[in-house]
Amino acid sequence: MSIFSLSFDDCCPHPKCTPFPDVIHLCNKLIKRWPDLKIDFFTSAAYARLNEDPYFLTQYPDWVKQMNDLPSKNFRVNCHSYYHRRLSAKHGNSNNNEMEKTSEKESRMLIEHMIGEFKTSGLKFERVFRPPGWHVGISAAKVLTEMGFVIAGNRKYFDLLKDKVPEMRYLITNWELREECILNGDVFAAGHTSNWCDNYFDKKTYDRVVKLLESRQFEFKFLSEL
Ligand SMILES: [Zn+2]
Repeated sequence: MSIFSLSFDDCCPHPKCTPFPDVIHLCNKLIKRWPDLKIDFFTSAAYARLNEDPYFLTQYPDWVKQMNDLPSKNFRVNCHSYYHRRLSAKHGNSNNNEMEKTSEKESRMLIEHMIGEFKTSGLKFERVFRPPGWHVGISAAKVLTEMGFVIAGNRKYFDLLKDKVPEMRYLITNWELREECILNGDVFAAGHTSNWCDNYFDKKTYDRVVKLLESRQFEFKFLSEL
């Protein structure tokens, strides 16, 4: 049977990103129809867009408790880097791609800070990492691999990295909820909890997921189980 995995990026206490209550409501509607469904959230430890103060997980204990209280049968939290934005001007213009141009030293620092913030906040998490903006450089991929992370990203970066980081474990997403899915076999679907993204989990993207799940039988898996 084909696997179906559903994940959402940018899950954090930022008011435009938090899954509560809208995204959780839609997740629970899916779970009511498919009780074994597994949903992975990707959380940044100190989410910040450019020129914003970071949303440190440790400063939002009520939000962390809400996440930890979600049923573990259906929900898990994974890692989406530290700030989610470039470190400085030398790392390019992107507001997102924190792990693309970092050196090994910078990558290690960011990942260690991320783990520290997760642990101090008490938020339970798995060692699955989605790079912010889905861009990940060789240095960051090497450090993530050394530190025991599975990278969950797109085929483009897998193809760029696979020969350069030979021990890398990498899960390839093949549907971003942007149109109705016509894939055969396993489906690794990903959207956003942040409502500034066009694949935000709302009624429209929810309906696309329902249509796919109604079309054939799937086995549901968390990314950390693969
Ligand atoms: Zn993101």
